[in-house]
Amino acid sequence: MQRLVINSTQLENNQIALTNEQLHYLKRVLRLGDGDRFLAMDGEGKSWLVAIAADSAIILEEVLAQTELSVNCTLLVALPKGNGFDEIVRCCTELGVSKIIPVNSDRTLLKPSPNKLARWRRIATEAAEQSERQFVPKISEPLDFATAVKVVPEENTPCYLSVARSSSPHLLDCLLDQKATKIVIATGPEGGWTPTEVELARSAGFQPVSLGRRILRAITAPIFALSVVAAQSERKPLTKGKIYDGRSC
Ligand code: SAH
Repeated sequence: MQRLVINSTQLENNQIALTNEQLHYLKRVLRLGDGDRFLAMDGEGKSWLVAIAADSAIILEEVLAQTELSVNCTLLVALPKGNGFDEIVRCCTELGVSKIIPVNSDRTLLKPSPNKLARWRRIATEAAEQSERQFVPKISEPLDFATAVKVVPEENTPCYLSVARSSSPHLLDCLLDQKATKIVIATGPEGGWTPTEVELARSAGFQPVSLGRRILRAITAPIFALSVVAAQSERKPLTKGKIYDGRSC
């Protein structure tokens, strides 16, 4: 069934007042008419089965679903060149990220134009609809790396810094060693972090981690990191005493 993210301010008395843009999408693009149903979601955890009635949607019932990760993951991503960030936002939204903070780092090659942020938020909304999530990840204004490492860490929130070519422990091992419900992972730009940035992050409490033996592109690294988080968060716990032989799932 078609999903559409609405703003909670559009809700009134069991009805959703649809915007012209939403009406155009539902009626012209999807060719839905009065009485046709779709799923409306507020992007903050609530979904409803609704039916179109003129320029609004009538709420028929609340839909309960749980497709979110059990761990709240914030990604701090050094902006890659070109439109690479679009792909990061799309894929990491599908994988379950909670928040993405774009960062300018010492070796970030391009500064984003102001309309980029609106574009990334649109991509996150579409990807959340498509992947049947209840939450649309927040995409914050770009921050400088030095500011981000100071303001992002919170109490009881392990923060990891992905560093290529290092002898740091693997992200998966670090995740398996803790039970936090909130984590932060930072991934660098094409040229990697500068030694000063690694030191800055370390002293702000970020633990350097490896994402494996190969060197991933700046676009692949956050997608891989989120895949590890999602797999770890959703795996079936191993039954005590039973030996996992790699074939029996
Ligand atoms: N040009 C750099 C690599 C940059 S890769 C070099 O040659 O060393 C871009 C970013 O992806 C890195 O800053 C890091 O955050 C992440 N990354 C890529 N591969 C990684 C790996 N194997 N382990 C940890 N982080 C990795």
